[in-house]
Amino acid sequence: MSYGIRRNFYNSKAWKTVRKNVWIRQQLLCARCYKPVYVDGISSWLPKDKRRTGIVHHKIYLDNINVSDPNVTLNPDNLEGICKECHELEHHQDISTRNDYLFDDNGNLLPRG
Ligand SMILES: [Zn+2]
Ligand SMILES: [Zn+2]
Repeated sequence: MSYGIRRNFYNSKAWKTVRKNVWIRQQLLCARCYKPVYVDGISSWLPKDKRRTGIVHHKIYLDNINVSDPNVTLNPDNLEGICKECHELEHHQDISTRNDYLFDDNGNLLPRG
């Protein structure tokens, strides 16, 4: 499997713009627990102890094929801004059913389990 394509995607300007728009749309609140999240360059006003890391999650998980399809990767309907805690819950089930590693929405490798 080639992970490079996905890394390039997460570093792309298009993704960064779309990601920011998701947070603005959600007014910087986690879509699941409604707690405010910290987003680089937008919510620096949030006190440090109130900062949860915000992650824009793909409802249709990215794989090596659909990562090249902007209708999946950059489609606002496929995106959901959630905090790190909610994001880990979301992916936990997915991880436990796989044999390999997968990427989170920041392009970081998550080990199985
Ligand atoms: Zn949350
Ligand atoms: Zn995710």
